[in-house]
Amino acid sequence: MELPRKIMIGDGVIRELGNFVSDLGHVRKVAVVSGPSVKVRVGERCVQALNSCNLEDKWFLAKSADMNSVGSVQTAISKNGYDIIIGYGGGKSVDIAKTVASNLDKPFISVPTSASHDGISSPFSSIKGQNKPYSIKTRTPIGVLADTSIIAEAPRRLLASGCGDLMAKVTAVKDWELARDEKGEYFGNYSANLASMSAKIIMQESKSIGSGNGSSVRTVVEALISAGVASCIAGSSRPCSGAEHLFSHALDFIVPNKGLHGERCGIGAIMIAKLHNIEWERIANTLRDVGAPTTAGEIGVDANTIVKALMTASTLRPDRYTILNKIQLDEQKAFELAKSTGVI
Ligand SMILES: [Zn+2]
Repeated sequence: MELPRKIMIGDGVIRELGNFVSDLGHVRKVAVVSGPSVKVRVGERCVQALNSCNLEDKWFLAKSADMNSVGSVQTAISKNGYDIIIGYGGGKSVDIAKTVASNLDKPFISVPTSASHDGISSPFSSIKGQNKPYSIKTRTPIGVLADTSIIAEAPRRLLASGCGDLMAKVTAVKDWELARDEKGEYFGNYSANLASMSAKIIMQESKSIGSGNGSSVRTVVEALISAGVASCIAGSSRPCSGAEHLFSHALDFIVPNKGLHGERCGIGAIMIAKLHNIEWERIANTLRDVGAPTTAGEIGVDANTIVKALMTASTLRPDRYTILNKIQLDEQKAFELAKSTGVI
């Protein structure tokens, strides 16, 4: 079990980044992986915090979450001796930094500037251009520092997407239980409960999150970090990722870049919950409350594509047993499922 050693969450905690990094080991040179807009928007706060503790920083721009970006950032970072790598930004920068840190065997710190998915604390990265169309295990961050005032400044759509990724835990845990019961797969009670709890709190507080209540950002960030930690404890993405994630990956494979990861997973969770015979309406209502999409039209996808993604999802990852293996969806059944849940 590999867990983050230090987690700091709160308004303005970016000011503590220098001490936070120094506390994690003997560090002088820091490589910061970030996106161009994040660097402009909040880069200076990060630089000041590092420099005030005599830490030398060098920035590397992450363009897109694919193997080309990983390759160019990795080559640039490996030329100089950096003690630690920070991923400063949204999912893309964190995923690239995490993958590069894993490849170069360097410690990694996650400093999310938005809360759009649970990769901010998990050992998994989603990088395009690999032979596997789903998240792969890379490196657990040794520290996670989440400044809720910076995250609150990010577009609301990203926070709503994070809630979609959290709704996915409801169906992911059901799929894991199914794999335990029908395939004898290892099931971690503690990590499953932790993941379920992070979804539950979003359901309970969805109205407050949707209204933009001040403390709601912290609730979502804490839930995402807890879900990521659940994956660390389980040693696999099982508690966080089931058939709804396979659906999201299939959709992204058929029509790339439609909707955000968490948005696709949220829509997938509505339909997969119905297959599991659990309260899918509650998931849909939660997503509506927080302002996340619940229909194909809202993410610019047509009905045929949804049907195709539902039918092909289980083929993406044959080793992951889910409800889609138990209930084989033909075109008619997939269409009815999407129709009856209001997705199409
Ligand atoms: Zn996810």
